[in-house]
Amino acid sequence: MNIAPETVVVFHYSLRNEEGEELESSRGADPTAYLHGANNIIPGLETAMTGKSAGDIFSATVAAEQAYGLHNPEKVQRVPVKHLLFKGKLRPGMVVQLNTSDGRIPVTVTKAGRHSADIDTNHPLAGQSLTFDIEIVDVRAATAEELSHGHAHGPGGHHH
Ligand code: ZN
Repeated sequence: MNIAPETVVVFHYSLRNEEGEELESSRGADPTAYLHGANNIIPGLETAMTGKSAGDIFSATVAAEQAYGLHNPEKVQRVPVKHLLFKGKLRPGMVVQLNTSDGRIPVTVTKAGRHSADIDTNHPLAGQSLTFDIEIVDVRAATAEELSHGHAHGPGGHHH
């Protein structure tokens, strides 16, 4: 079965940045599952997956626009330190949690003061071109329940 809309794809991946540093990997753990065509993964990777089948091994380099977006300088802002959740001493470069009205989001500290901090609310991988090393483990038809939920169930997928 080839990867197409309404299939569930089970895959292993590792993720490298432009410097070749490994940022994430599913290898050594359970593979990940997603529902194809439902915006479960970044657009550039979904495009690269289309038409592949179980056993395929390939690399895909995805430009920032098709990954986590370009870095938006307007998303750097100053906030009171009391709105941030972190352990230890606040330092530039730390990824901390920001309390917002929509819940907590990860942000990167660019400048740390005693009472206020400059934070960057862009996704930590925004502005980066990313390379995925992919191994397709399984491709199967999605169940009606998965289609109505918009995500994959079972091992590597969503658990309720
Ligand atoms: Zn579900």
